[in-house]
Amino acid sequence: MNIYLIIILAAILVEYVIDLVANHLNLKNLKTTLPGEFEDVFDEVKYAKSQHYTRETTKFSNIQSTFMVIVKILFILLGGFNLIDMIARGAGVGNILTGLIFFAILLLLQEVVSIPFSAYSTFVIEEKFGFNKTSAKTFVMDIIKSLLLSIILGSIILAVILLFFQKLGDFAWVYAWLIVVLFSFLIQYLAPKLILPLFNKFTPLQDDELKQKIRNYVRQQGFKLKGIFTIDGSRRTTKMNAYFTGFGKYKRVAFYDTLQEKLSNNEILAVLGHEIGHYKLKHILKSIVISIFTTGITFFLLSLFIKNPQLFAAFRMEHLSIYASIVFFGFLLAPLQILLTPFSNYLSRKHEYAADEFAVETIDEPVAMKTALKKLSVNNLSNLTPHRFYVFLNYSHPPVLKRIKNIEKTLGK
Ligand SMILES: [Zn+2]
Repeated sequence: MNIYLIIILAAILVEYVIDLVANHLNLKNLKTTLPGEFEDVFDEVKYAKSQHYTRETTKFSNIQSTFMVIVKILFILLGGFNLIDMIARGAGVGNILTGLIFFAILLLLQEVVSIPFSAYSTFVIEEKFGFNKTSAKTFVMDIIKSLLLSIILGSIILAVILLFFQKLGDFAWVYAWLIVVLFSFLIQYLAPKLILPLFNKFTPLQDDELKQKIRNYVRQQGFKLKGIFTIDGSRRTTKMNAYFTGFGKYKRVAFYDTLQEKLSNNEILAVLGHEIGHYKLKHILKSIVISIFTTGITFFLLSLFIKNPQLFAAFRMEHLSIYASIVFFGFLLAPLQILLTPFSNYLSRKHEYAADEFAVETIDEPVAMKTALKKLSVNNLSNLTPHRFYVFLNYSHPPVLKRIKNIEKTLGK
């Protein structure tokens, strides 16, 4: 049997089994007694509801991943990729356009398979727990808009990469690396102005008192902020969130309207302080550097597997091509990703603790960081007692009780 096929199938199965085990442990770890820290914000009924929510979403994710694994393996073993390649080649256009058609068909297939799951999750599970605000129209428009975006942006960058690997020989990977890095900076620059407004309405923050508080805080921290916005998160969900976009002088912060409804001004300031902490402590810079570095390594490794006949044989392909090499290399990279994700999550969790500490040390009402986190967890029905193994694999943020403990330690200093 083909060695690449063994590696790829093993990676798919191993990842699947690890996830099932982690999910199982996580469910077994659900505790029925409410942690003391949450007695003032959770009642028994709501706490039971949060556990019910964890159970339902976990069960659903198990069903989805089982289905996906079966589809993926059958698709590989039955030569699905070759079939798509034949269709793309049938169009009788040049190499690069054929490649784009190949990617587009894959993208559409992936959508077709995943839409029923995302519809069920939105309109059945999220609905049942009172989170869903998405209308059928918004749901459909979201899919259409993101598909169009993927096709437009994806075609541009893929066409360039394919062209480089076709024309530039041994060092194509270096040029591809550079262009992808530039392209991702451009996207981040354009996102707040052109891309995000396609999905949400951004309104400048109206609340004058809050605005003044934010301005004062930002000035104290010597932080450059271009704009403070509210976004209509409530169009899709009652869950709360906040984020920054842009860099340099063009940083903007956006709060979900749902956040503003339920948090006090001091708590919103704590959330802002946390986000500013990520910038001040250079977490954003670090993650940009890491991602530039890993993009480079990925392209170098890819260059070693372009048109590798054995790799193509694993997928039962009749023709070699650069475009299909990219897809197959993605499968080959999976084992490495399984190993690296827990490390990047670990780093991210460390950054979260540090950003919390930054907020606590810099805001006027430090205890607001704690109460904000508690309100967020209750509102989003977060699991208060995730299993350690599940956290190790999946959590980019530490479990909320650990964050609170860390905040208290900082407050006590
Ligand atoms: Zn954070």
